[in-house]
Amino acid sequence: MAIATVDPTTGETLMTFEALGPEEVEARLAAAAAAFARHRLTSFAERAALLERAADLLEADEQSIARTMTTEMGKPVAAARAEAAKCVKAMRWYARNAEQLLADELPADDDVRDSGAVRAVVHYRPLGVILAVMPWNFPLWQVVRFAAPALMAGNTCLLKHASNVPQTALYLQELFRRAGYPEGCFQTLLIGSGAVEGVLRDRRVAAATLTGSEPAGRAVASVAGDEIKKTVLELGGSDPYVVMPTANVERAADTAVTARVQNNGQSCIAAKRFLVHDDVYERFEERFVSAMRALTVGDPMEETTDVGPLSSEQGRDDLEELVDDAVRLGARTLCGGQRPKDRDRGWFYEPTILAGVTDAMRIHREEAFGPVATLYRIGSLDEAVELANDTSFGLSSNVWTDDEDEVRRFVRDLEAGGIFFNGMTASHPGLPFGGVKRSGYGRELAGQGIREFCNATTLSYR
Ligand code: NAP
Repeated sequence: MAIATVDPTTGETLMTFEALGPEEVEARLAAAAAAFARHRLTSFAERAALLERAADLLEADEQSIARTMTTEMGKPVAAARAEAAKCVKAMRWYARNAEQLLADELPADDDVRDSGAVRAVVHYRPLGVILAVMPWNFPLWQVVRFAAPALMAGNTCLLKHASNVPQTALYLQELFRRAGYPEGCFQTLLIGSGAVEGVLRDRRVAAATLTGSEPAGRAVASVAGDEIKKTVLELGGSDPYVVMPTANVERAADTAVTARVQNNGQSCIAAKRFLVHDDVYERFEERFVSAMRALTVGDPMEETTDVGPLSSEQGRDDLEELVDDAVRLGARTLCGGQRPKDRDRGWFYEPTILAGVTDAMRIHREEAFGPVATLYRIGSLDEAVELANDTSFGLSSNVWTDDEDEVRRFVRDLEAGGIFFNGMTASHPGLPFGGVKRSGYGRELAGQGIREFCNATTLSYR
């Protein structure tokens, strides 16, 4: 894949970039390792001052970087501004909380005595140079939610961003440089995915994090496994959105629209499968369908646009194939189901709801990465749990119910890294984020996230 900015609204190639050659990659690896040797010795106060400064700069750049993101991957510009603001918040959160999150832990006195020690401590130290392989869908957020804790822990970062967001990738490197981070603390590697293995195998790289598709996760984790290097994987999702009889159906239907089409439907934690109880199905369907029909599809630079183009022609074609496969096998299209007729350029797809989906259809098993919802009718709590778990993914999940027994059952049985009751999934710096099953492993954000790339060192004094 060429490293280039291709505007998904027009299909026009706006800027192309040369991939770094082996010598340039080598220079960056050396700089990252040298920077780690110094950065690991800095205090939390010094690191926090740098990160706060980066947050200030990003806050000031919100408008311009939002337009860059929209140009590169097509998200509505208002959502791009919100993404930048969320990054500012996460940076400040880690600047203020990292020291406490990584404070020494004291094991129980009994255990210390039993181990034969007079004192024992768990002490968190940074791991080293961390390679981040990141996707285009939240081109700032995915990077910041890794980099803010990694830098606060004392690690240094190498970013291999998705090939279609090179300007955002270079902006991030520049942001950290302007904030005063010493050379080598945060660097962008403009390289294709084929060059990732060499970087990951380099002895100066300690660990890797990847957010992206299952094949990319498998490729990176295999190499890391071979090198015995730690990885965190944040992969795909096909989150269920369950609506039970006690739910506020109107709120559930209205929220369902945002939960599905946020980021033009290209979010790992978007709700993708809507499982609605018989008792409220008709009311939910009617409201959901009419709200999806009412969305404005168009130029993502317009403030009034709800849904912009998909990020690439391939992404649009893949989504279209999933829908066509389902329709061919008998699914009913309640709205959408095609490219908008009034758009002859760009990679648009209408907000779509499919009903009558069966397990013979690809969309029942695969992630629909675009504004396409599948709607299922369920008759019982057992059926809700069974269908919600009938996926290889386990990222997050959404449940609408006011019944305490049902809540307990979902908490016990849903196979997902998060369960959001009476609302949609949304990440927050203070809440751990990640999945189970083929959605990956490890956690980002909160204390769990910052400790992923630390060496939890046991100190035992006798
Ligand atoms: P992708 O193809 O996997 O790309 C993600 C990153 O991995 C890009 O930087 C890509 O580089 C790189 N890459 C791809 N194949 C690779 C390989 N074999 N070896 C090393 N690096 C490789 O992902 P996508 O399809 O663009 O993004 C959408 C996917 O990401 C969806 O499945 C979505 O659910 C998932 N996602 C998950 C989360 C989460 O937090 N769990 C968040 C957002 C997205 P190139 O661009 O150069 O190919």
